[in-house]
Amino acid sequence: MKNQLLNILPDEKNLPNALDLSVDEWKSWLCDRGLPAFSAKQVVQWIHQKGVLDPEKHSNLSKSVRETLYKEFSWEVPKINSHLISVDASEKFLLETHDGHLFEMVLMPYDNRVTLCISSQVGCRMGCTFCQTGKMGLKRNLTSGEILSQLHIARENLQDRRITNVVFMGMGEPLDNYDEVVKACRLMVDKNGWGLSMHRVTVSTSGVVPYIQKLGKELPVRLAISLHEADDNKRSQMMPVNRKYPLAELKKALLEYPAHKRYGITIEYVIIEGKNDSIEEAKKLVKYLSGLKVKVNLIPINHFPGIEMKPSTASGLRRFQKYLSDRSIPAPIRYSRGQDISGGCGQLAAKHESELAMDPRVLHKNRRRIDRSI
Ligand code: SAH
Ligand code: SF4
Repeated sequence: MKNQLLNILPDEKNLPNALDLSVDEWKSWLCDRGLPAFSAKQVVQWIHQKGVLDPEKHSNLSKSVRETLYKEFSWEVPKINSHLISVDASEKFLLETHDGHLFEMVLMPYDNRVTLCISSQVGCRMGCTFCQTGKMGLKRNLTSGEILSQLHIARENLQDRRITNVVFMGMGEPLDNYDEVVKACRLMVDKNGWGLSMHRVTVSTSGVVPYIQKLGKELPVRLAISLHEADDNKRSQMMPVNRKYPLAELKKALLEYPAHKRYGITIEYVIIEGKNDSIEEAKKLVKYLSGLKVKVNLIPINHFPGIEMKPSTASGLRRFQKYLSDRSIPAPIRYSRGQDISGGCGQLAAKHESELAMDPRVLHKNRRRIDRSI
């Protein structure tokens, strides 16, 4: 059953979740109860800026507001089903929603930043042939609160560092869950919320053109495009979204995207032996990218059971990379982090579905290895 007023998914106790409300929704909720609208800012600060999910501790609110908050909302965040730490120090969390769905997030500490890779949906309906999340199909959209919960859970697990960057590169197609994703992003960039600047939030998309345009008008955060192919026929085979929004339309939307000139656009190119790694393909890619300010991340495909595709050989990869960089397109090779803990998109949740039972020893063994290497 949905809460009519707020359009929010209630938890099992049938209460809406406090993390799902926007600043404006807090204002109306307070006004409807004859409570001061200015408290909306304070409630948002407690929840998102300070991470205090116990309304009794919201000390600058009146007792009656605190009691009502306690009674009328669920303050739960998804449970941690498993937590794996890689030898490269990235941490993967398999999270469980109140209605039993599994989704994942990855925390990636670097020397100068901490990037959190989050999910927007449980599964995905876009059906890309090389993607394990795509094979699951769509189970359901995550709510804005479930999206934001990932930041909360990551913060609780970070000892002395803080999240500096957020990327929507976990499970799901963010622009297929546009409203909830934008609602969550607004709280990420709100100074009373997470206070991240817009260029530190990246939405990655397979190319849902109308929503790229809408995002450009409403909240022009950074954009990453999962391109993987610059030939329409081949791309349509790999990525069904291309049948609806072919390459020319996608390019037009990218050229018009407001943040394009300022930050550029990241192009993700999963590189697959014998499919998209020839010089012929590199030529098409360079032609397609002309006029765009881009960086191309070359990502050797992660293998998973049930797919034939393999990553390019080291020499194939270098040849492709050189072709791009000789033409002034930066093209770093990015190995997915956390290979030893099922690093790729959707891989942990899928593995969980097939093998289940995470071995807690992996966590402790890797923690020891990291401690030794620091
Ligand atoms: N749906 C969005 C956001 C998910 S991002 C999108 O596609 O952009 C997940 C990233 O992982 C995408 O760039 C996707 O193309 C990539 N990916 C999917 N399957 C992969 C695999 N088997 N190996 C390496 N990268 C993969
Ligand atoms: Fe969905 Fe992205 Fe995977 Fe394609 S690559 S199936 S859009 S998650």
